[in-house]
Amino acid sequence: MMTLEELVSYAKRYGFVFAGSEIYGGLANAWDFGPLGALLTDNIKKAWFKKFIDESKYNVRLDTPIILNSKVWEASGHLQSFNDPKVDCKNCHNRERADKLVEKASKGTIDADGMKLEDIDKFIKENNVKCPVCGKSDWTQARTFSLMYKTNQGVVEDSSSTVYLRPETAQGIYIDFKNVQRAMRLKLPFGIGQAGKAFRNEITPGNFLFRVREFEQLELEFFLKPGDENYWFEYYKDFSFKFLTNLGIKEENLSLYDHPKEKLAFYSKGTTDIMFRYPWGFDELWGIASRTNYDLSKHMEFSGESLEYLDPETNEKYIPYVVEPSLGVGRLFLALILNSYENELLENGDTREILHLHPYLAPYKAVVLPLIKKVHSEKATEVFEMLSKEFNVSYDDTQAIGKRYRRSDAIGTPFAITIDDDTLANGTVTIRDRDTMKQDIVKVEDIKDYLRERVNF
Ligand code: ATP
Repeated sequence: MMTLEELVSYAKRYGFVFAGSEIYGGLANAWDFGPLGALLTDNIKKAWFKKFIDESKYNVRLDTPIILNSKVWEASGHLQSFNDPKVDCKNCHNRERADKLVEKASKGTIDADGMKLEDIDKFIKENNVKCPVCGKSDWTQARTFSLMYKTNQGVVEDSSSTVYLRPETAQGIYIDFKNVQRAMRLKLPFGIGQAGKAFRNEITPGNFLFRVREFEQLELEFFLKPGDENYWFEYYKDFSFKFLTNLGIKEENLSLYDHPKEKLAFYSKGTTDIMFRYPWGFDELWGIASRTNYDLSKHMEFSGESLEYLDPETNEKYIPYVVEPSLGVGRLFLALILNSYENELLENGDTREILHLHPYLAPYKAVVLPLIKKVHSEKATEVFEMLSKEFNVSYDDTQAIGKRYRRSDAIGTPFAITIDDDTLANGTVTIRDRDTMKQDIVKVEDIKDYLRERVNF
């Protein structure tokens, strides 16, 4: 597998990801999705919507704003407790997330999530934990640090106009539970899913797209009858895992981590993370949580509105339970590239870069290549125009054909369509497969069907 440095350099070289605000010296751990990165993130979201919403008879979509009424964050507990512990190095002023520092120093033997501040201080002192920047061990006491981004709305900068950028998309779904249920005449169980940006003022962002301050989430809140939570928890763990393997992620690169019971919040019935083997080790890709009726109850309490459900079968009224699979687009983006990249050694001793992405995810489904620019461009343009109405395809008439194949393999384009004299004479093209390099002869009018069959997910 690639190292993190190789990944960053590959992503920049081919236009997947650039450093954010680069010409101004950058902005710590902010990244831009380049032309290919924008297509890949779009395809990740499409795949998720397709499997989690469109192909489910239970689930619907929603799209709520980044800025919500601030009471939402009071009710959800984010204003009081969406904190991480931090310590500052007194020598060089480097700031570290204290729980991660403890975990690193213990070589992963301690899970410091939720560790008390005094226990963190004690561990740091007893183990003489050093600052990774300057090497000294002279830390401030551990303190909590709010991850919420605060800003003002309106023209008067007083406290009444304080608003927050959402740190997760889920709360927008909870507060619309009743609207969606009524408007869509839904019966339990049903799910509401949305994709959107979330913001967390992370103490130590890093590892490329893995931990950033502005990221995109794909969240499903699946509402169900109390008592059915274990069934749906298992269902969504399995469904999410299969979603990944069906997209080509190898099982050996995935693992499941069940949060220990004693670490769970009092309301939680279980949390399992699907972990991916990143270059620094297995780390969280997707969190699946069984959250009981905690969030809806809190919003009932703070808003005074009933968010109960009247069960039409039993005539009982209750607050639904929730199972929530929550995925970060950027973390899946990294996982897909790491999982799919290969530098293949060819028989003649050359190497070939290939991104074995599932065709559904590939930024371009095919590249159209006129063999000789002067002779075949007109026909190739026709083919490109025909295909681009239905698929994302690219057009390349630069360099020798071999080099053009190499570039399209390296960015994961599954099919290379060559337009040559046979196309002009017989109306056929050669379609080369990225992975096997095998070639098929296909009639121009059959190319769309050929791609449709193979791009499907
Ligand atoms: P971590 O323990 O890594 O901080 P978390 O458990 O706080 O993550 P959740 O609150 O469960 O994360 O968020 C759901 C998902 O959102 C995560 O599984 C991850 O894919 C994504 N995510 C969370 N924080 C970030 C971040 N700072 N940058 C990128 N993706 C993130």
